Amino acid sequence: MKEPSQNEDTAKKVHIQTFGCQMNEYDADKMLAVLRHENYFHTNYQEDADLIILNTCSIREKAENRVFSELGRLRKLKSVNPELKIGVGGCVAQQEGESILLREANVDFVFGTDNLFELPEMLNKVSQGQKISQTERHPRQKIRNFIPNYTFQQARHFGIKAHLTITKGCNNHCSFCVVPITRGPEVSREPEDILAEAQQLISVGTKEICLLGQNVNSYKANGVDFVELLHRLDKLENLERLRFISPHPKDFHAVLADAFVTLPSLCEHLHLPLQSGSDRILRGMRRWYTMETFYEKVALLRDRLPEATLSTDLIVGFPGETEEEFEMTMEAVRSVCFDLIYSFKYSSRPGTRAAEYPEHLSENEKSERLRTLLETQEEIVQKKNEALVGSIQEVLIEGKHHRKENTATGRTRGNHPVSIINSATKVGDLLAVRITGAQPNSLEAEPISTSTDSG
Ligand code: SF4
Repeated sequence: MKEPSQNEDTAKKVHIQTFGCQMNEYDADKMLAVLRHENYFHTNYQEDADLIILNTCSIREKAENRVFSELGRLRKLKSVNPELKIGVGGCVAQQEGESILLREANVDFVFGTDNLFELPEMLNKVSQGQKISQTERHPRQKIRNFIPNYTFQQARHFGIKAHLTITKGCNNHCSFCVVPITRGPEVSREPEDILAEAQQLISVGTKEICLLGQNVNSYKANGVDFVELLHRLDKLENLERLRFISPHPKDFHAVLADAFVTLPSLCEHLHLPLQSGSDRILRGMRRWYTMETFYEKVALLRDRLPEATLSTDLIVGFPGETEEEFEMTMEAVRSVCFDLIYSFKYSSRPGTRAAEYPEHLSENEKSERLRTLLETQEEIVQKKNEALVGSIQEVLIEGKHHRKENTATGRTRGNHPVSIINSATKVGDLLAVRITGAQPNSLEAEPISTSTDSG
């Protein structure tokens, strides 16, 4: 999207390719906001770009490998267009730093997760022929001050749904996770800046805001904790929906469960990452809760709000995980009946404690466990989705179905994707629908009210 203030004669094109999580997508938008000030606009095509940035993820080995194979592919583009500049940002850049420059001669600059606001200076040096590796960590206050300066430009980039980062980094040091290494210790943004950014998002048409943080519910700044922040956001006029990811179970308490009942905007969906159903494995993962306490947390929510949906993250094949311990995970899945799981084979990451643990499982064993888990989950979700047939749900319309004529798509407050047949709606409408069909990954519905665009 080109900004009206940009000078068309001198504008350059940037292509940002993002790997990994929502946090990385949010960072990509911040990069774009910074680059718009430098008269860059985004292009979807690498071939058109003057600048290509790979915004990387190192949470799993596969994502990291994809970055290096992408860099290999870019050699050809650079040979055709020697003026093309190539940068690598994000978590792989933070970890690998200068070694990326040594490994891939076509890369011009590498920058860490704290350094994206220094893109203009880096690009200036790169244009003079320098190779740059900038992965220095900054003090917390400096990071806090950087963020608000770019928020409005960033807000315009979003549509009816927006992510809003409230914390950066993590203090938990789960034994399998690189985030504390790549993104550093936890920093909470000032509540006033978060509220101002949310207000700006709403003013440009955003209906749903999802708060982001690695351990989002440990947020605390200026005496405002996470629940207080939710209360303040809920008071903003015209904010229809509020969500957050990812909370840590150890920081999920009754007062946060109460907020799901008392705050009208807070959607009835909780993502609560379990990771494993075995207490011994949870200790090895350094997760700081047991299965007993996890079940108590689930009950906190379901006692108050039985219809709330619940999703989770699970890792299979953690080092030393026995068949019995894997079966404990299966038991947890069957008894909690999650609406959605994000499941992964354990992937050893350099620099983490678990990488040093003995008894790593073979790829075959991990794949077999993942397959078993997914099969069971599919049956659970099919039953849960079928139970929704006939119910009335509120859907926020996000777009048109890419294959079906006259069909809109959106999500319920419980975060179920829904296709609405024969719907004359537009993006951003809030619509009451009746669920008419259920598949494992989505629901079908018919409208029962005309458009309720609240904008
Ligand atoms: S809570 Fe654990 S898994 Fe999540 S980002 Fe922090 S260290 Fe990683």
